[in-house]
Amino acid sequence: MTPDAPLAIGAAAAIIVAGLAALLAAGIRHRRAVRRKDVRQAEMLALAHAAHEATHAELLRAKEAAEAANAAKTRYLVAVSHEIRSPLNAIYGYAQLLERDDAIPPIEAGGVIRRSAEHVTNLVEGLLDISRIESGVLKLRQDVVRLPALLDQLVDMFRMQAAAKGLSLDYKVDGALPAFVRTDEKRLRQILINLLSNAIKYTDAGGATLTIRYRSQMALVDVADTGIGIAAEDLERIFEPFERGGAAADSAMRPGIGLGLSITRLLARILGGEVTVSSEVGRGSRFRLQMLLPEPMTAPAGVPHCGRVTGYDGARRTILVIDDNPAQQIVMEHLLRPLDFQVFAATGGYEGVALARRCNPDLVLLDLQMPGCSGWDVAAQLRAAFGRSLRIVILSANAHEFRAGGDGRSDHDIFLSKPVDLDALLDTIGDQLDLSWIATEERAPAACETPAPLPPAAAPYLQSLRHHVKLGHVRAIETLLAELEADVPASAGAVGEMRRLLGDFDLRSLARRLEHVD
Ligand code: ADP
Repeated sequence: MTPDAPLAIGAAAAIIVAGLAALLAAGIRHRRAVRRKDVRQAEMLALAHAAHEATHAELLRAKEAAEAANAAKTRYLVAVSHEIRSPLNAIYGYAQLLERDDAIPPIEAGGVIRRSAEHVTNLVEGLLDISRIESGVLKLRQDVVRLPALLDQLVDMFRMQAAAKGLSLDYKVDGALPAFVRTDEKRLRQILINLLSNAIKYTDAGGATLTIRYRSQMALVDVADTGIGIAAEDLERIFEPFERGGAAADSAMRPGIGLGLSITRLLARILGGEVTVSSEVGRGSRFRLQMLLPEPMTAPAGVPHCGRVTGYDGARRTILVIDDNPAQQIVMEHLLRPLDFQVFAATGGYEGVALARRCNPDLVLLDLQMPGCSGWDVAAQLRAAFGRSLRIVILSANAHEFRAGGDGRSDHDIFLSKPVDLDALLDTIGDQLDLSWIATEERAPAACETPAPLPPAAAPYLQSLRHHVKLGHVRAIETLLAELEADVPASAGAVGEMRRLLGDFDLRSLARRLEHVD
């Protein structure tokens, strides 16, 4: 053995030990790595499982929401068809009677058909309103509104309905109200009508109170009632479209389709306000409208009329009606001539443009759909010939053709949907021509505190009336009311009230009205 041999053996042993240690360390590292991988995989599995659970729960929620929406849609369709069917039946029935040349007075038939058409129109309007607001195409007006007169009118209108159910309707103004405010009058009216009509509809004893406070451009309107109330779990739901209160058995007895509050809240919000509710079942409800109603700097001359319009100040104005429907022309002539407008009418677009060159109108009422030409083309020709001083009002039955107009670039100044409310049309004409209306200071005829009395001589009619109201036999009720009015002239006031309830298809109130007489 060389002297270096032990050293070499020691070095070799050291190398082997180091190698073994390295191998051991690598084995440990490998095992750790495998364990870490296992843990990671287990964690990932747990995460995947949790994600799967969440997705599953979400899918379940989406399915439940879709089913609830479907059920609401079905309920809505049933309600809508129910709401549409009774007025349509009346229109259908009267049309057939007229065709058979029955001895039916045309005034009576016309009245029922008009009111029925109004009812269906309101329903369609309600649905369109929701879709317009939700799709953001609803155009708001900036009217100057006589706030006190508007509230007086509404209270008068509903006091009648309340009295017919034996309810009171109180009106309180807390502090002073401004004479004028600036807002969209039609929409404000719609909100208040919804709240007041609900207060009366859902109250069987006691009454309702409208209270208004006005401070720093902000109006606070409370509509409180002593009615059936709303369960706590329904307080938000009732603002959803087609949802009706949980006292469903009771609600189902009261006409309605569950659109009013949805429209009310949506409208209040786009007008810069909010509607809230507090209620106690069996004790009553309080709906609160809080809304910014700024006062205009000055009250302009052409504010909407509150009495009956009989004419206007200043020079005589000329209006040209272009409409292929002769009935529409006749309505316009009957509306406008008595107010001292000079009215010309044409049944076609090109004829209308030619007539305009001769009569030089201040304003044109223009139908959109006419055979052979479109109202839009006619508007363009009129605008090119007469410039901006001519006011062009489009009247169309097709809401899809809606274009707001009046922006200085469009050929037309304003778009109104048919059927047009004649008061709204007069307001529009007044606005467009900057007219100062002359109006009688008449109040709405409905201004009365208690139901008109029925004299004892009316007694023989009451039994039959109650019977037909129960059956919902509109024609028979109308006939009986006409007979009662003719035989017992002193009952005319009460007959008028009952006709109005019948006109609104409010048979339930009519039944109550008849219960409240001996
Ligand atoms: P509709 O009256 O056609 O059902 P609304 O949207 O106006 O539709 O009201 C929705 C629901 O809210 C009603 O069905 C009713 O249950 C409840 N409701 C509304 N106003 C009142 C009220 N003043 N008192 C009690 N319940 C009310």
